[in-house]
Amino acid sequence: MSPANAKLNAFPVFMRVDGEAVAIVGNGEEALAKARLLSQSSAVLRIVADNAGGGLLDFIASTGAVHIDTAYDAAHLQGAALVFAASGDAALDRRVAEDARRLGIPVNAVDRPELCDFFTPALVNRAPVAIAIGTEGAGPVLAQMLRGRIDRMLSPSLGRLAALAASFRAAAEKLPKGNRRRRFWNDFFAGVPAKAIEAGELAQAHGAALELLNADAPAKGHIALVGAGPGAEDLLTLRAHRLLMEADAIVYDALVPEAIVAMGRRDAERLPVGKRKGCHSKSQEEINALLIELGRAGKRVVRLKSGDPLVFGRAGEEMAALREAGIAYEVVPGVTAAFAAAADFELPLTLRGVSSSMVFTTGHDLKGNSLPDWAKLAISGATVAVYMGRSVAAEVAGRLIEAGLSSDTAVAVVENASLGNRRRFHGTLADLPSLEERADLTGPVMTIIGDAVAGANFEQSEPLAAHKHEGAASAVAEGVQP
Ligand code: SAH
Repeated sequence: MSPANAKLNAFPVFMRVDGEAVAIVGNGEEALAKARLLSQSSAVLRIVADNAGGGLLDFIASTGAVHIDTAYDAAHLQGAALVFAASGDAALDRRVAEDARRLGIPVNAVDRPELCDFFTPALVNRAPVAIAIGTEGAGPVLAQMLRGRIDRMLSPSLGRLAALAASFRAAAEKLPKGNRRRRFWNDFFAGVPAKAIEAGELAQAHGAALELLNADAPAKGHIALVGAGPGAEDLLTLRAHRLLMEADAIVYDALVPEAIVAMGRRDAERLPVGKRKGCHSKSQEEINALLIELGRAGKRVVRLKSGDPLVFGRAGEEMAALREAGIAYEVVPGVTAAFAAAADFELPLTLRGVSSSMVFTTGHDLKGNSLPDWAKLAISGATVAVYMGRSVAAEVAGRLIEAGLSSDTAVAVVENASLGNRRRFHGTLADLPSLEERADLTGPVMTIIGDAVAGANFEQSEPLAAHKHEGAASAVAEGVQP
């Protein structure tokens, strides 16, 4: 790691080029690459190129860049704000660099750092917002990788939001300095105007910003019910990530890994509400009340739930409570555990000619006398994903077999799907009851039942039955009737 006081050998600045000439000398690919980069600005490009290549000629024709179609001469640089020596010819590049320096114009020579007064960054362009990435000697691959990451992190509509912000700047300067003005900008960039811009509603964004300007009421709270995915951090959606980074408060369940909560804004309040070892968990009513309280306090809240928030997440109750309290909310989907488990097993949830429907169930409704509808679907070939099914594994297997599903039907079980410590098991419906006895399964467990399971990859999984037999053997060894 570089020391805290490491110095930059090139200091980034943003140079004004609007309407200024920028000269690029060269007729091939290097010149074209620089011309493309510079064409993201409103500079007037002056391309000095005799015998220009086809790509460069097309570029000139389509952008209206000035083309000087003669051999290079120092006079071609006159009046330019920046010069690029991009001829690919060492001697010519050196001549261009020396001429530029004599004329007092900063120069960049492609792939010749020793001739450069400045370097061009990898650029994330959300005009008027620009993020420039420089890596000095570390090279363009790192710069492009970082560019890709940053690009994905930022909303595509950031530029439009920044342009709207610029148009409100003067009006906002009239607000009292300090808290009031800061609150306006906070709400502008993270509240209704930002959301409206993201939805493409420019007029609504403008109206909302005006309202913020004139409102003396405190900021309006907003709750996002966000799916955190099955556990792996990189299965979080980009939208979930963005909201986490904007949140004032993060309210999260026990199954959401700390690493995902830690991706939230550093100074966000973090409120665990699910049962962890040794911690008291809140009742659903208490969670509803907490969300309403945070919303009324004007907070932007991310309510993080494992997997998808609308699948066995009690989101229905939270949404009803928020609606009744008049607090704005939105839902952000996540990768549900069944999908993660299927991916870990390379298991086709639908399989041509075998299974064309899916059932997501808990198995907890099998206790009654009548078979629930999903059991009938299972018998007619649906793939069944059982959430929270470990403690009812025997019940699920018994009732399905009793209802007519073959005891040979394939079963796949994943503990800690998507995570590094995941474990996979396979077997048949007849083996499923052994799950209940396994004290070694301490993580969340997903069970998938159906003929489509036969299409999975069992190379990395252990047979479920092995454990059953081991258990029976040790019971015998201990003199217990199996
Ligand atoms: N909303 C969540 C489900 C919450 S219910 C979702 O969409 O995934 C909790 C159950 O989900 C657990 O009992 C387990 O059956 C399943 N589950 C959650 N995460 C899991 C994981 N990483 N691996 C296996 N099962 C998981």
